Amino acid sequence: MCSKMFVSSILLSLLPGCMESGYLVTSLAGDPAATGQPAQATALRYTNHRPAAIVEEIVPLRITGSFSLGDRAKILRAVNEWNVALNGFVRFAIVDDAAAPAADARQPRPWTIMAAQGVGPRVAPGPTTALAHTQPVPGAGGLMIVYLDRIGMRDLGGVVMHELGHVLGLGHGERGLMAAHYHPTDQQCVDKTTITAVAAKRQLAVDRLNWCETNVASAAR
Ligand SMILES: [Zn+2]
Repeated sequence: MCSKMFVSSILLSLLPGCMESGYLVTSLAGDPAATGQPAQATALRYTNHRPAAIVEEIVPLRITGSFSLGDRAKILRAVNEWNVALNGFVRFAIVDDAAAPAADARQPRPWTIMAAQGVGPRVAPGPTTALAHTQPVPGAGGLMIVYLDRIGMRDLGGVVMHELGHVLGLGHGERGLMAAHYHPTDQQCVDKTTITAVAAKRQLAVDRLNWCETNVASAAR
């Protein structure tokens, strides 16, 4: 199944063939502010709308591979921020890394967040490399691969937060969390543009969801 949704206009010309994965890429030359102080040091405030009475959809996540405890904490931060934004209408839930018993076929299949080292594809013949990518696996949730050794000084939490947008079915945007190219001031929090896209996809009212009020998308670059 080909889906154009996951392919950004920026990368479209670079990607081979049918590409259903959501890639987040970076310049091989490095990021302009990667060694500076990330803007995330400023408190990111989320709106605080009345949460859903009942969680209607759980999206299970497994974390596997050689993530350090620090890495896992960053992944949990990304998951938690998404859960704040989703406000109970959809909820990411970390499930045991051990293979879940397939007792109930009606249970949603988990998405797996996996650490990979040094084996990622070059996204393109071009000056970028993938930090992570996410793709659905038919009948089995999906797979998010994080190329840990390429993260360097970049914010792993922000990278995972971007990829979780793909787990929810989002494509790429120009700026903000879902920008296809990593930038320290972009992939910081679930911004209003991003949650508006989620609301549209799930037929939810956006003002029942939450978003970070820091205007990252228009931050000076
Ligand atoms: Zn992406």
